[in-house]
Amino acid sequence: MCGIFGIVQAESSQSLGLPVGCLSGLAVDGLTALQHRGTESSGLVGADGVERQHMDIVKGHGLVRDVYTSENIGKFNDSVILIGHNRYSTSGKKSGINCVQPFVVYTAVGCVAISHNGELVDAKKKRLEVLHQGVGLSTDTDSELIGQMIAKAVALNYKCRRDHDPGDISRELAVTVSAFSTSYSLLVMTYDRFYAVRDPYGNRPLCVGTIYNSSSTEALAYCAASESCAFPSTAKLDFELQPGEIVELSKNGIKSVCQMKPHTPSAMCIFEYVYFARNDTIMEGQQVQTVREACGKQMALEDQIEADIVSNVPDSSTAAAIGYSIQSGIHYEPCLHRNPYVGRSFIQPSNELRVSAIKKKFGVLKKNVEGKRIVLIDDSIVRGNTMSALVKVLREAGAKEVHLRIASPPLRFACFMGINIPTREELVAANRDIDQVTQFIGADSVKYLSVEGLQHAVQSGIDKSDTKFEVGHCTACLTGNYPVNVDF
Ligand code: SF4
Repeated sequence: MCGIFGIVQAESSQSLGLPVGCLSGLAVDGLTALQHRGTESSGLVGADGVERQHMDIVKGHGLVRDVYTSENIGKFNDSVILIGHNRYSTSGKKSGINCVQPFVVYTAVGCVAISHNGELVDAKKKRLEVLHQGVGLSTDTDSELIGQMIAKAVALNYKCRRDHDPGDISRELAVTVSAFSTSYSLLVMTYDRFYAVRDPYGNRPLCVGTIYNSSSTEALAYCAASESCAFPSTAKLDFELQPGEIVELSKNGIKSVCQMKPHTPSAMCIFEYVYFARNDTIMEGQQVQTVREACGKQMALEDQIEADIVSNVPDSSTAAAIGYSIQSGIHYEPCLHRNPYVGRSFIQPSNELRVSAIKKKFGVLKKNVEGKRIVLIDDSIVRGNTMSALVKVLREAGAKEVHLRIASPPLRFACFMGINIPTREELVAANRDIDQVTQFIGADSVKYLSVEGLQHAVQSGIDKSDTKFEVGHCTACLTGNYPVNVDF
């Protein structure tokens, strides 16, 4: 999972006197809003709309706020178009600065920059093909491969282009991406426009919007992002790309330039709803927070438990806990306070150390917990170590019973489409039945949302009258049913 964001200045914005640095500021804001999708590194590439052989680049490791400064984004003062990327690595070395996206390649028509969210399931085969054709690759990431293949498609088609607009690589792009199955959502930029591309399975989200000046109805810029939460408040979400769609964004506006045959049914990652996406994002026409609440309601429908309070592990499962509380009629009461200043808890070697790390991260609201039978909601369990430590902490604070309810089905299989799910051996539910998971966690009971329940909660709010394809979702890490043959 990564976050991608692109922006291009609108022709009409010239009359509005766009301040210098406004565009790059909006790009940094967009990447900040997508920080939850990747925290390892961030990069921005800009072009001035005139020079084809040069793009400005700022890249670095760490959070968006650590990478960009008022000095370095000054490089983009002449940029009329930018694309960016927040990285969460699934392939390629985590620490290599040359793996930080966007990638820039020189092609026969000038520089092309690429931002990629997803992971190509057929990368290994394609990589060998490219290497055997004598093309050198500077990284082991699948995203660089896409850039090289675009460069090759441009070269092969060069004679046919004649007086063709040099910024327009839509045909070459369509030829390149149609050779891959999944998973990719891409932004591909030339000197004066960029393309948003979603794979035929629609595995990763991608949407486009128009930014307006607050005092005008004229367009200031056009943008594309992994999630609509990246658009500023003065933007309108125009549409989410259909699976297999290629859209061009330029100073002239947003237009769909190609529609590859969508896979039937589509296979958008269902975990975007469970965990990855931000609550305020609109995905498949619905607010993610609303879907999470529906998951909580569905879980209560599938459950029968007597308890005093429903609570949650802050902050990601709040919506599911509210939904469970509404449906079950059991009062919602917070029982944990998350310390926002404590970062990631690293894997601790013993249970004592894990409990100690959890105590630093979460404070217990003792008065709400003492003597209570608690239904504790979380969105998912991966290894189960954090949850077992949390249950212990709640018991120490006086909880009478702790019943764990998970707003998604058990994670049992690896993901090959862009999410670093640990190996099967590490997944607590992969080789344990529900009683063994309950024992491992130390809860009084554990129950998961069913696969059908999750699909119902996700799909019942989608308006299918407007879609030209059968709507489906990837559930492979839950069911083992992969939408494609995985080449790993
Ligand atoms: S395997 Fe799981 S995490 Fe990976 S794309 Fe499918 S639903 Fe998403």
